[in-house]
Amino acid sequence: MMADGASISRNVIPETLDTRVASKKMDARKKRVAIVGAGPSGLAACKHALAKGFRPVVFESAAGVGGVWRRTLASTRLQTPASAYRFSDFPWPAPADAASAEGLFPRHDQVLEYLDAYARRFGVLERVRFGCKVLGASYVGATEREVAAWERWSGNGEAFGDGTGEWHLTVRHGDGGGESESTQGNLLSSTCAHGLAQESCSSEFGASDENQAVPKLPTFPHGRGPDAFRGRVLHSMEYSSMAHEDAAELVRGKRVAVVGAGKSAMDTVAQCAEANGCRYPCTMVYRSAHWMVDPKVARHVKFFTFTSCRWTELMVQKPGEGFLLSLLATMLSPLRWVASKVTEAYYKRSIPMREHGMVPDCGFEQASLGWRLGILPEGFYDRVDEGGVELRRCGSVGFCADGLVLDAGGEGERVVGADVVILCTGFDIDRPLRDVFASPWFSEMVASGDDGGGAVLPLYRHCVHPRIPQMAVVGYAESGSSIYPYEMMANWVAHLLDGAVRLPGVRDMERGVAEWARWGRWAQRSCGGFFLKSCVASVTTWYHDQLCRDMGYSPRRKDGLLAEWLQPYGPTDYAGIQ
Ligand SMILES: Cc1cc2nc3c(=O)[nH]c(=O)nc-3n(C[C@H](O)[C@H](O)[C@H](O)COP(=O)(O)OP(=O)(O)OC[C@H]3O[C@@H](n4cnc5c(N)ncnc54)[C@H](O)[C@@H]3O)c2cc1C
Repeated sequence: MMADGASISRNVIPETLDTRVASKKMDARKKRVAIVGAGPSGLAACKHALAKGFRPVVFESAAGVGGVWRRTLASTRLQTPASAYRFSDFPWPAPADAASAEGLFPRHDQVLEYLDAYARRFGVLERVRFGCKVLGASYVGATEREVAAWERWSGNGEAFGDGTGEWHLTVRHGDGGGESESTQGNLLSSTCAHGLAQESCSSEFGASDENQAVPKLPTFPHGRGPDAFRGRVLHSMEYSSMAHEDAAELVRGKRVAVVGAGKSAMDTVAQCAEANGCRYPCTMVYRSAHWMVDPKVARHVKFFTFTSCRWTELMVQKPGEGFLLSLLATMLSPLRWVASKVTEAYYKRSIPMREHGMVPDCGFEQASLGWRLGILPEGFYDRVDEGGVELRRCGSVGFCADGLVLDAGGEGERVVGADVVILCTGFDIDRPLRDVFASPWFSEMVASGDDGGGAVLPLYRHCVHPRIPQMAVVGYAESGSSIYPYEMMANWVAHLLDGAVRLPGVRDMERGVAEWARWGRWAQRSCGGFFLKSCVASVTTWYHDQLCRDMGYSPRRKDGLLAEWLQPYGPTDYAGIQ
């Protein structure tokens, strides 16, 4: 009997579970979920929503998946090792993951192939409507006053609310015809185009349909804006969206000046130098240099591995940590300082940045906290030595008829002759998010919050705004390697849709947001302003621990205590979370 009973219960329990899962999935199929964007974060959002039984619709304005990787310079490669820039359960094809410098940092077309293969493998591709641009989103069914009074997110704390409200999207289809789509339930936005090591300035140029990011431009001295220039001015976004042959043709045989010193600037300069050699040197004009590391040198210093261990995370302040952990971080901070000084000295010795006036103003410690780091294009300083690249540091920059006027401080002004000027001055990363809302109230709230629009976007778990119902953001918070943190966010949101993640009340969510805001202000201060907004790079594992706990999984993902503390955390550690 006992044996029979045991065998019955073995058979019955899974059946009951299966039935429950099946009915939950049936339920999910009836709910409508819209995802904006089919870049890496949109793909992850769709994959995990599908795994929970939802049938999301992904609106993508471009003609294919991949986001920023569809429109890069010919020379763009990954900056983070392939082993870290991957989804948890989808490895790179073997050669890309190999230990060579080539394999470590795959080319842009390999990244695109990888993302495309992921979309095919998990049935995401069939869910994407290409050539469909979301122009706006309105929440209907409840007034702003009613929403503001809710004490639970979406009214009842549930992802889909109580059925009162829903999002209406206005979508423009590829044929140019406007159309209104109603999506009952949730809206997932995954539209942020961040770059690494960008510079910040102020905006003027528009975004095309293929390219949703909004460029930032420097403030030019009065009368010295782009209008004063006879030649062609374009932003790096426009330049990198061009077909590779057209981009090469645009600069060939021309005097090119590139403004900026981040990753896009370095890549653009290298590309121009490649096209023109020493005959028409490309001039790079910049205010401050960044920590840009040679790929061969980066291969030897396992910086990424070092920063993703639990024991190294003990050395930094973490949001919402207790007194003891905070005290420990303060006590260990000299160790962090020594480690960064050693790295700094090694980089300065191995890379000729001193000789070329390219030593950054901020220390390596600050740069790594704010993740203002990047990988140099291959042989960059060789090109400077050969005369194909000229480097010009200045306080401010403006235009004149023949090129750029640099204010070199005490040395007065200097003119750099140019036919083409490419502005690699970064993007306004909040704009695409703000602009999606028809309601100015939502629009204002999503990007500002308690910290006055400062270091961290006011999103609970970096995904949902406590007062914006039935909407989640995936992929805004950046990390050292962005894909697997995006996937963690996507997974958390899928658990929220599914009801497995239970949200606290609005006030408690706001307290959680405030903890991160306080931490963000500390990080911003500690970096001397070199902080990439909502960058969680230095506390990625801490952040993932919060998501794991919410989803009901243990944050301790390693086998054994030693491994837990000494081995670096990475994408595969989270593969089992479904
Ligand atoms: C040149 C470059 C190199 C980079 N290198 C690295 C790296 O080495 N490591 C790293 O971790 N990160 C890197 N990044 C950061 C990179 O942005 C992310 O890795 C990742 O591509 C971001 O994914 P995402 O899906 O959030 O956004 P995106 O890739 O920008 O994708 C957003 C998608 O949404 C679509 N979209 C936007 N708005 C709408 C709308 N209204 N309607 C319909 N569709 C819309 C866009 O067309 C796009 O396809 C790099 C970025 C750049 C620009």
